[in-house]
Amino acid sequence: MTPVIALVGRPNVGKSTLFNQMTRTRDALVADFPGLTRDRKYGEGFYEDRKFIVIDTGGLTGQEAGLDSEMAQQSLQAVDEADIVLFLVDGRAGLTAGDEVIADHLRRSDKQAHLVVNKTDGQDPDVAAADFYKLGFQSVFMIAAAHNRGVRSLLEHLLPEP
Ligand code: GDP
Ligand code: MG
Repeated sequence: MTPVIALVGRPNVGKSTLFNQMTRTRDALVADFPGLTRDRKYGEGFYEDRKFIVIDTGGLTGQEAGLDSEMAQQSLQAVDEADIVLFLVDGRAGLTAGDEVIADHLRRSDKQAHLVVNKTDGQDPDVAAADFYKLGFQSVFMIAAAHNRGVRSLLEHLLPEP
């Protein structure tokens, strides 16, 4: 089974940038992957010889009333479809109230989510991450998607050698 990775987080944290990095070896969109709807953006990627599907979403602001807006539904459906959930946050903006709401939702889902702190370029990684540890995620990854930094090591952790 090809693992499915969902990217969720507030708008502008870098989800689409990471999606593009993850799929650039094979940027064709997945046309017919059984059971997946076409409302979200699906891509296929490879880490070494390990194939995966990645889902980009519009993002959750954490302020949706009851999380029932269309965009929120997209993100929640992506989480449902995924084997692996990556919760992206912006290391420059620091922890926001929206991040806390999203973290709370992810904690209540049965999917294990990994926290990914993006935009760590030009920052002290410890300072960038400090705020976010209090969200209580077991695994925290530091990346700079725009510079493709930390992305391979993230994939190495998510897709261990069979
Ligand atoms: P999305 O709304 O979560 O999909 O975010 P985007 O991928 O569209 O990125 C939002 C903005 O953040 C864009 O201007 C990106 O160029 C910028 N961005 C993404 N990744 C990084 C990064 O690693 N470092 C910095 N400095 N900017 C980034
Ligand atoms: Mg986007």
